[in-house]
Amino acid sequence: MNIVADMHCHTIASVHAYSTLRDNLNAAKKKGIQTLAITDHGIGCADSPSLNYFDNLLSLPREVEGVRLIRGVEANIMDFHGKLDMPEELLKRMDFVIASFHTACTDSGTVEEHTRAYKKIAENPLVHMIGHSGSAEFVYDYEYIIPLFKKYKKIVEINAHTFICREKSVENCMRIARLCKEYEVPVMVNSDAHSEFEVGACDKAFEMLHCIDFPKELIVNVSQSRMEKYLSDIGPL
Ligand SMILES: [Zn+2]
Ligand SMILES: [Zn+2]
Repeated sequence: MNIVADMHCHTIASVHAYSTLRDNLNAAKKKGIQTLAITDHGIGCADSPSLNYFDNLLSLPREVEGVRLIRGVEANIMDFHGKLDMPEELLKRMDFVIASFHTACTDSGTVEEHTRAYKKIAENPLVHMIGHSGSAEFVYDYEYIIPLFKKYKKIVEINAHTFICREKSVENCMRIARLCKEYEVPVMVNSDAHSEFEVGACDKAFEMLHCIDFPKELIVNVSQSRMEKYLSDIGPL
């Protein structure tokens, strides 16, 4: 299976990533990906881009040589009350907002604390997608929270980078995907590319979804029409 939109990728602005915006767009075009979201890390980590970077991001064109460009951010969840590391005013202006926990910004807590944080994130109207929430360091009460993601119209991400860099998280990802199937929660499969070579590369994630017989209809970004509808619902189109 292939994705038509890659809604999570990083550029050299994230410092620990290796390709430019242009490199990533070229890779997307080559792979037939029509929509690419640039989602560098929010300002809360030591090697994050500045607020000015995100301000200027909004001056980028909406389309480059046939690839639609979504101007986004992967905001860091900074505490167990769901605080994000970006000013609300700026988040409101971004096309697409991912919320993720990273150990580089936030130390792990208890399952109860992570659950409390994800409940707040579910309720936050500025967040569109929950990034790689299968992280082994930030386990939460999946049974309780996954239906809340659906209630508040959050996309749950199936993150392909996890299968390369966060192997300990794979089992949790499978549990989360099973619950998304059970509760019919829409997901997106994204590369979380940290270089142009990873853009659109989601094979391992699809293998896992295939293993659990995950319904294709729930994967928003494998269908052009579902993707168009989603983008028009949240605003960028
Ligand atoms: Zn991340
Ligand atoms: Zn990322």
